[in-house]
Amino acid sequence: MIRINENYLKLQSSYLFVEIANRVSAYQKEHPDIEIIRLGIGDVTLPLAPACIRAFQDGVLEMASDSTFRGYGPEQGYGFLREKIAFHDYRSLGADIDPDEIFVSDGAKCDTGNIQELFATDIHLAIPDPVYPVYLDTNVMAGRTGDFKNGRYGNIYYLDSLPENNFIPSLPETPVDLIYLCFPNNPTGATISRHHLKKWVDFAHDQKSLILYDAAYEAFIRDPALPRSIFEIEGAREVAIEFRSFSKTAGFTGTRCAYTVVPKTCTAYDGKGRGHKLHGLWNRRQSTKFNGVSYPVQRAAEAAYSDEGKTQVTEMVDYYLKNAALIREEMASLGFEFVGGENSPYIWVNCKRDAWGFFDLLLKKAGVVTTPGPGFGRCGEGFIRISAFNSYKNVERAMARIKDALN
Ligand code: PLP
Repeated sequence: MIRINENYLKLQSSYLFVEIANRVSAYQKEHPDIEIIRLGIGDVTLPLAPACIRAFQDGVLEMASDSTFRGYGPEQGYGFLREKIAFHDYRSLGADIDPDEIFVSDGAKCDTGNIQELFATDIHLAIPDPVYPVYLDTNVMAGRTGDFKNGRYGNIYYLDSLPENNFIPSLPETPVDLIYLCFPNNPTGATISRHHLKKWVDFAHDQKSLILYDAAYEAFIRDPALPRSIFEIEGAREVAIEFRSFSKTAGFTGTRCAYTVVPKTCTAYDGKGRGHKLHGLWNRRQSTKFNGVSYPVQRAAEAAYSDEGKTQVTEMVDYYLKNAALIREEMASLGFEFVGGENSPYIWVNCKRDAWGFFDLLLKKAGVVTTPGPGFGRCGEGFIRISAFNSYKNVERAMARIKDALN
């Protein structure tokens, strides 16, 4: 008799987006004449940069000729891309990362979800609340958590991110082995200072634990005082793995390209306390289960590092940041407190009431869709996430409608 992995039965249904879709479609049915403006999604809206498109097309044409055709590429990614990443995203920041410590992939979602395969089932986890749900759900699937009760899984140390701690979780008070951090954060948009990040790195050294650092929104950092990578912090090479993506940086959500940095000095331990290099384990995992990102896509990603590409992708991110600045300005003028939107595309608004009630009010009175905070965890109660991924014109219209609705 074929049996299932019963850990899957513990998973909560992705109630959030289903519920949002149901409420929006019910409203639209009743008001077919009202154009809904969506500030709820985390997907980009601008097309790929022209430099990336040209490189993408050239890559496709190479596949059309006997002399330039390519079959399977290296599972870890082509050298031309790994070298550009190491130079532009790390060495130029003073972070000591080699091209062969970079593993190119088809998404930070897969990588942040798959990495837990390298670790024992009975480790202690620290996971933020609110959170990008992939970290939590993939550990539920792997059997590392207890049952779901009162909005939380058992056997998880939740790292609460609340106004009281400026949305930067405090260090755990009990031992933890694997720590997930995400900055700039989804969903709160909060950023972490070098000083705070150093505390986490030191903590991981003390505890012999490992930090999984998701920097998918790094490109939105404009404040030079903020760290763009955990590898800017002394000591991180031994205790951290970093995830990055071209999705939000260069508009690759539909094109798919990302990378994970596993330094060769990064160690985890077996049952007898002997250290093992995670670089070798991740390399083994990827070369067994993954066959690389397509050649034209890697050429398109490489083009984001050309002079022309860099200018174009910076303009794209600036465009979304201008939207975020407008959302911040208007929400402040309405008297709301919020975090994010300065070095991040997300604004996390304290609605000072029930989040779903506020979501409904914005939908029904302004025709604007946001994301209710409780969908990201218990600490999201009383918050909504507003996303800057839309056209400036739509953000202006949405904000004008919200002002009318609330005044
Ligand atoms: N990490 C975070 C925090 C995200 O918000 C997202 C996407 O929304 C991802 C990773 C996934 O990125 P990718 O498109 O590279 O899979």
